Amino acid sequence: MLKTPILKIILFILLFPFVLQSQDYWQQEVNYTISVTLDDENHFLYANEEFEYINNSPDTLRELYIHLWPNAYKDRNSALAKQMYKNGNDELYYGKPENRGWIDSLDFKIDDRSVSYSLYEDQPDIALIQLKDPLIPGDRIHVSTPFRVKIPSGRISRLGHIDQSYQMTQWFPKPAVYDKNGWNPMPYLNQGEFYSEFGSFDVSITLPSNYVVGATGDLQTQSELQFLNELADHTLKKFPEIISGWKGLKGPKTPFPASSEKMKTIRYTQKDVHDFAWFSDKRYLVLKGEVELPKTRKLVTSWAMFVPQNAKLWQNAIEYLNDGTYYYSKWNGNYPYEQVTAVDGTISAGGGMEYPNVTVIGNSSSKNELEIVIVHEVGHNWFYGILGSNERVHGWMDEGINTLNEVRYIQNKYPGNKRLSDMVLNGRFHMNDLDYHDLGDFMYRLIQKTGYDQPIETHSKEFSPANYGIVMYQKTGLVFHYLKDYLGDKEFDRIMHTYFDQWKFKHPQPEDLRVLFEKETGKDLSWFFTDLIQTTSHVDYKIQNVKEADDSQGAKIKVKNVGQVNGPIEINVFDLSGKMVESSWLEPGERETTLETNRNSISKVIIDDGKDIPELSRQNNTWRSKALFKKWEPLKLEFFIGDNESDRTNVFWTPSIAGNAYDKLMLGIAFHNLGLPPNGFQYLIAPHYSFGGKRISGISELSYTLLPKTRAKMIKIGTSIKSFANSNYSESYYIGISPYVRFALGSRNKHSSINQQLIIKGLWRDDVYAGVTKSNFGFKGIYTLNGGNPDFKWGVESTVTYYQDYDGIERVFRGEIEGDLSFKYLRKMEKWISARFYYGQNFLFDSPYYLNDHMQLAMSGARGYQDLFLEEYNFERNASGGQFWAQQRNDNHGGFYSTSDFGTTQYWLTSLNVKADIPYLPNFIKLFSNHGLFYDNYMWNGYKLRYMYNAGLSFEFGGIFGVYFPLVRSENMGNLFDSYGREIRFTLKFNVFDKGINFANIFN
Ligand SMILES: [Zn+2]
Repeated sequence: MLKTPILKIILFILLFPFVLQSQDYWQQEVNYTISVTLDDENHFLYANEEFEYINNSPDTLRELYIHLWPNAYKDRNSALAKQMYKNGNDELYYGKPENRGWIDSLDFKIDDRSVSYSLYEDQPDIALIQLKDPLIPGDRIHVSTPFRVKIPSGRISRLGHIDQSYQMTQWFPKPAVYDKNGWNPMPYLNQGEFYSEFGSFDVSITLPSNYVVGATGDLQTQSELQFLNELADHTLKKFPEIISGWKGLKGPKTPFPASSEKMKTIRYTQKDVHDFAWFSDKRYLVLKGEVELPKTRKLVTSWAMFVPQNAKLWQNAIEYLNDGTYYYSKWNGNYPYEQVTAVDGTISAGGGMEYPNVTVIGNSSSKNELEIVIVHEVGHNWFYGILGSNERVHGWMDEGINTLNEVRYIQNKYPGNKRLSDMVLNGRFHMNDLDYHDLGDFMYRLIQKTGYDQPIETHSKEFSPANYGIVMYQKTGLVFHYLKDYLGDKEFDRIMHTYFDQWKFKHPQPEDLRVLFEKETGKDLSWFFTDLIQTTSHVDYKIQNVKEADDSQGAKIKVKNVGQVNGPIEINVFDLSGKMVESSWLEPGERETTLETNRNSISKVIIDDGKDIPELSRQNNTWRSKALFKKWEPLKLEFFIGDNESDRTNVFWTPSIAGNAYDKLMLGIAFHNLGLPPNGFQYLIAPHYSFGGKRISGISELSYTLLPKTRAKMIKIGTSIKSFANSNYSESYYIGISPYVRFALGSRNKHSSINQQLIIKGLWRDDVYAGVTKSNFGFKGIYTLNGGNPDFKWGVESTVTYYQDYDGIERVFRGEIEGDLSFKYLRKMEKWISARFYYGQNFLFDSPYYLNDHMQLAMSGARGYQDLFLEEYNFERNASGGQFWAQQRNDNHGGFYSTSDFGTTQYWLTSLNVKADIPYLPNFIKLFSNHGLFYDNYMWNGYKLRYMYNAGLSFEFGGIFGVYFPLVRSENMGNLFDSYGREIRFTLKFNVFDKGINFANIFN
């Protein structure tokens, strides 16, 4: 076949330039000397910086981009402020001046000549200097400047102070990277990391002498080393007392001792790093250890620094540091520096943060969690520190590959761990044998099933926050685990060591990693580097059939690729005793591949028995020779809910009790498969015995989720079935069957702050009254669009409905449009005001006037019998007039929060509903006011345009339950206080299926 050679040629042509470039690789060099003094009374840094910039590129440089990242904290114009605001954090956007930070007093000199700078693209944290003399290839310049930093609050992001605990990161002027793609100026961001030039640092820090400092580099000041050693001895000796001293002390943190009058200057140097960070705190306790690296047996010193209140948690921190350093060295290449440090901090960006040699760790809830965070951050010394990829653009190259190593660390050190099970109520709900790998696996499957996942290769600023965490970290870890499983640990480790040796202290790009892996394996890995890294395409294989030879000498196993990635797949064969006897990988190939095995007496065949491949559906992975349905996994009935196991058909059940006015008490059982990770085909069947109707009532919901490659994020096809009694007479009930298709619209690969959804549904509905059946059917289309920011939300929904009875005597064709706006009017108190605008019109309305109430539009919202598509739950669906349950109304149509029958029309109505939180009162109490206009249809009144209004107080709980007390209203709605109890309206919103949970709101 021609396909393969042509692909290979194209691939070669595509990769050829990169092969050349990797041989011609060059990078710039920056060598810094900085002296800095900490003013811990006013939270300022005063510093002098000098750096030598060496142009190793083949290009003549005429300008220099310098990051002034403390200015990211200056005001709301920085990219940081905008990004945090967009992601729902307005700490900086509306921040108090005293909490903000900046850098000033700059006076750049290049080779002793003053130069001026401008802001690049008006960004406060990127300076652009036009060089007076062009910097030719091979030449160097000497740049110097004084600077002053106002240290921002540590609650904003990574640079900051919490009281007198200092986290000095991204604190000095620093050139942007110049690489084969040109200059890479970038503003500081919370979501999105770094890219810096390698070089050396010589940093002297002056501060009150009782501060303990953890920093990048080797400490050159002997007196300081002695100070730390003494602290470490003291901590070790007094550990039991320190722990018991803090036991039971809650609330107040360890107090800060006064700063010593005496100042000290301590000096650190380091080469082959691209950043320098330091952390200082007067309260730190210190632990010291050392780790022997594999093979070379080189010793590396480890330091842990933490506040006394966290001493118990940090007791084994040295072990975590040492083990992390050891395993990462073993799997990737030896740690090339002399020391590794972890400090206890209160940072605002994530659980921990990495810098060369030193990592800062946020609050952990347990020793397990602390170990994972320390190991992860220490691991960044490799994937960020030593292998300095452009994290801002290709975040997966550090976070994702690091996650692979982190998961591998836990799997290795704690074989048989049940980390995920332990997290879910200690394994209750049948989440039994789920380990640390399964945790990432579940998270990825969950977001993938919503269609809101993005490709691994996505720019940090384009990622939704959920995808940044789940896709960039977890999915990358999972796909590299897949690659490792396919290549085998030994081969994978060999290639990672080659990657380390070739690219240490350099800037590897994704194509460099790919070229290396393809060269070393001799394989075309486009299924990995293109499909899995660059797209949201999913992996899914199924066993088509297994044909055992007549003489039972061997079998042919036919496997079909039903996914979107043409990758390798592992097939596991088991003998009659249940032992795995064969494990083979099918190479990427045709849609259908056959594995021939010479094993006889096969009991079962499983695709990826170890669950090492991030496959979309594991429900089609098993074949069993002795089973009636050979491709069905054995049934497992479990109580309530649990995980969908890959080798079982899990059915969850729960007894259920329900009730309404006609069915009275209902007792039943709900069966479903809504476990985790979610299945493609989902069902919930809940039959109930109705003591009122003396029949079976209940609901069923069946759906299938499709993840198309383009055009829609997700398509869900399903059917809802509902049947309940509808009056107190015998043989009176309704049954509604509503097939639907729901599209989450938008481009699969793009994050947008605007969500779009389209639902198309049909309805067949039989209403039976005392044995007489009336059939109806209809169609409905609903299109919704919504978006917003932390202060403002908007939404538009337009609906068309057609509904008729079987004989066509009653027909209605309705168009509706609804707009919702809400904005926060008091930011600190979180007080919102919201307005809903509605217009509905029946374009076609055929019905005898005496029985058409159910097809009319209602200013007070539809009652049970006006809910044509059976979308809501009503306690007494057909309650009318003054009956108590007639006060239950749905939040639709005119939306008035009162129960007047005035304002019911067969023509059109329009309304405005306003709701506002009240300052100083809890937010479940709101003020409301409704205004409506409609065309009155009572002939004997003449056709008239009518206006009505009301206002009052409401109590709303979690969007499910609401009670509304009108206080004033227009006269035409009748006297409010004649029978006040009857005017109170309430809503109940239980229906999650028809409307669908809007995942966009959760994952965007
Ligand atoms: Zn990380």
